Amino acid sequence: MPCYRCGARQTDPVRGASPWKRGVSADAQVLICPECQRSHDLDLDTCSSCASTALICRLGEVECRSCGHVRSAGEGQGGGQGECLPKRPSVPADLAAEVEAALSRVLGRS
Ligand SMILES: [Zn+2]
Ligand SMILES: [Zn+2]
Repeated sequence: MPCYRCGARQTDPVRGASPWKRGVSADAQVLICPECQRSHDLDLDTCSSCASTALICRLGEVECRSCGHVRSAGEGQGGGQGECLPKRPSVPADLAAEVEAALSRVLGRS
């Protein structure tokens, strides 16, 4: 899995633990390369209990590795049946209004 931010490929560490960090962004499990970890505008989800970014996403749940707090993925997207997939863009409200206006024109309403 490449870095979610810059797309860099993970290389095998010479020895010891990988310097790559795991995190969750928009309810999706992501990897952050050492380069991007230095950035301060990482768009990572944080634990609602302790604000840690050390989260793991699995089976529709996001678990905090710092305090153990668990929330369901997809919270706030209606239903909470998230499957750790990136958010899909929803149809903007003004598009629906546009379609309705176009229909009105076709039907000859003013
Ligand atoms: Zn990166
Ligand atoms: Zn936590």
